[in-house]
Amino acid sequence: MADWQIIGQKNVAAFLAKSLEKGELCHAYLLAAPEHSGKTALALKLAQALNCTGDNPPCGGCEQCRRITAGIHADVRLISVQAADDDGKSRVELSIEQVREINHAVSLPPFEGKYRVIIIDEAERLSNGAANALLKTLEEPPPGVVFVLTTVRENQLPETIRSRCMKLRLAVAPRLEIARFLEQGLGFPAERADLLARLSQGRAGWAIAAARDEGLQLERRDNLLKLADALGSGFDFRFELADKLSQRFGKTRTEIYRLLDQWLSFCRDILLVKLDIKEEVINTDYEIITAELASRITAAEAQRLIGSLNVTRRHLEQNASPRLALEVLMLNLPVIKGSTKRIG
Ligand SMILES: [Zn+2]
Repeated sequence: MADWQIIGQKNVAAFLAKSLEKGELCHAYLLAAPEHSGKTALALKLAQALNCTGDNPPCGGCEQCRRITAGIHADVRLISVQAADDDGKSRVELSIEQVREINHAVSLPPFEGKYRVIIIDEAERLSNGAANALLKTLEEPPPGVVFVLTTVRENQLPETIRSRCMKLRLAVAPRLEIARFLEQGLGFPAERADLLARLSQGRAGWAIAAARDEGLQLERRDNLLKLADALGSGFDFRFELADKLSQRFGKTRTEIYRLLDQWLSFCRDILLVKLDIKEEVINTDYEIITAELASRITAAEAQRLIGSLNVTRRHLEQNASPRLALEVLMLNLPVIKGSTKRIG
């Protein structure tokens, strides 16, 4: 069996490879997985396996595989509805024209390969109208058509869509497996590979993107610095920060979600240090500041802080006023004495 080279998803890849070998493919799959855990990569691997002309599909080297990797294969469509995230809408219209186009495309035989593969990324973001327009095709696509839907929040997907797909749940990848890939596959030094694998929390796609993106690492450093500053400052500074963050939320909410996730991960580390479970610490490159903050707040305060961060994130996702949600968060940060500006 060919190696699908999907980090941490051996079981699902093996299942798909076996189905392919036996000719028992479904016409619609739903890949349920956390963000950046490799579900789109897996969907593209399946598209390659279906169209590959090499000996060991997906070989990665034949014309079909290469055209799919390059995103120029006429029969493989990747429809991403996540791009509109930043404009503040929680659901995005896939227009009726686009749905008609999909329905029309699948009615034609494959143009250059053996299968038409339609990948709809983060399908829970489809509007109800678009989802309904897709139902009939999804239920009974013409032969030679495979749909692959991916989702981060499966419970937000209409039951009508879910019931028409074969669901495969992707696991988060083991930390060591991600670290090994970054070190041996991409040539990163062991220490950096280990840090990125910890930060990724099992999301291989994130680890690979972050490894190549220096800007993300700088942003993370800046975000941790903000938290340390806020913890060491009074309410004037905190409200000013809440104001700045809420303004940025209006423009690009993913950045603020990322900041909250990083604060959460940092606060969990503080709690882990307090509980003396250091092996599980994620931000190993900021051990000194974590230890310093851990010495200044109680475990109960750290726990409350983690709770506040989760509540803030939930409120923002439910379209609460960003300014209010962030101000409440600032009020709930524990007040610690002294400055903690010795970061990184
Ligand atoms: Zn191939």
